[in-house]
Amino acid sequence: MTGSAPQNPSRPIDALRPEEARGLSGLVFDLDDTLLDHGELTEVAYASLFRLREAGLRLVACTGRPAGWAEVLVRQWPIDAAVAENGAVAFVKERRPPGAPRSSCVFPADLAAAGARRVELRALAEELCRRFPTVALADDNAARFTDVTLDIGEHCRAQAEDVAAMRAEASRRGVHTLASSVHLHLSYDPADKATGTLRLLESAFGQDPVRARLAHAFVGDSGNDAAAFVAFTTTIGVANVRAYLPTLPVPPKYVTHAAMGRGFAELATTLAALRVPPG
Ligand SMILES: [Mg+2]
Repeated sequence: MTGSAPQNPSRPIDALRPEEARGLSGLVFDLDDTLLDHGELTEVAYASLFRLREAGLRLVACTGRPAGWAEVLVRQWPIDAAVAENGAVAFVKERRPPGAPRSSCVFPADLAAAGARRVELRALAEELCRRFPTVALADDNAARFTDVTLDIGEHCRAQAEDVAAMRAEASRRGVHTLASSVHLHLSYDPADKATGTLRLLESAFGQDPVRARLAHAFVGDSGNDAAAFVAFTTTIGVANVRAYLPTLPVPPKYVTHAAMGRGFAELATTLAALRVPPG
């Protein structure tokens, strides 16, 4: 009916069928407000990673957070790889016994060139901070390899119209932007979470991109997950994704009942139970 509110086609996670869960070989997961609760890792969320690994799934973190953070997570956590800076950087875990696991950079190939371009991005970011006093430089920029990031929701509270104005100004300068629940990212790299993850899966795991979209589920919560919600077949939003549904071109196929880390745990429990062979 004309004028009626658009229907949300996302289904509760309970609608996920065993055949779909058993067809997966991996789970790609966002960090902020998906695995993490307002930046903090809870016991239930972290334990879920072990349950997912035991269920035979390849685990790939996929975040707008810095490359330097992803490098550490790959070394320390029970995960196989991480995509950082919204798809521009990727690390894979290397096990060459004896000795501890290493974190190996898959891309970009030329870190020095990527770093040099951050000088121009930093100047733009500082200009935007002067024009829009409700934002600030994010406090994780020192660990970044390719982008410069503004805090719009982590410690600051930026208005949506200010974020839109900043994105328009960056676009006029030829700078790509992506926004999450906490950050506005400025980059010359047009990568997004989908292109970056598919590039990693092909480069490091030999996964054909068409097959990888079917064989890997993606779970996220906000605007910088939009490309991944489009690209992957089995997509899940934690409950707080509902705030972003009006702005997502394609909503996640399933939504958990709980928010953030508890929603991630709910997904892990569901996947692990469904992947147990019948009988
Ligand atoms: Mg997020």
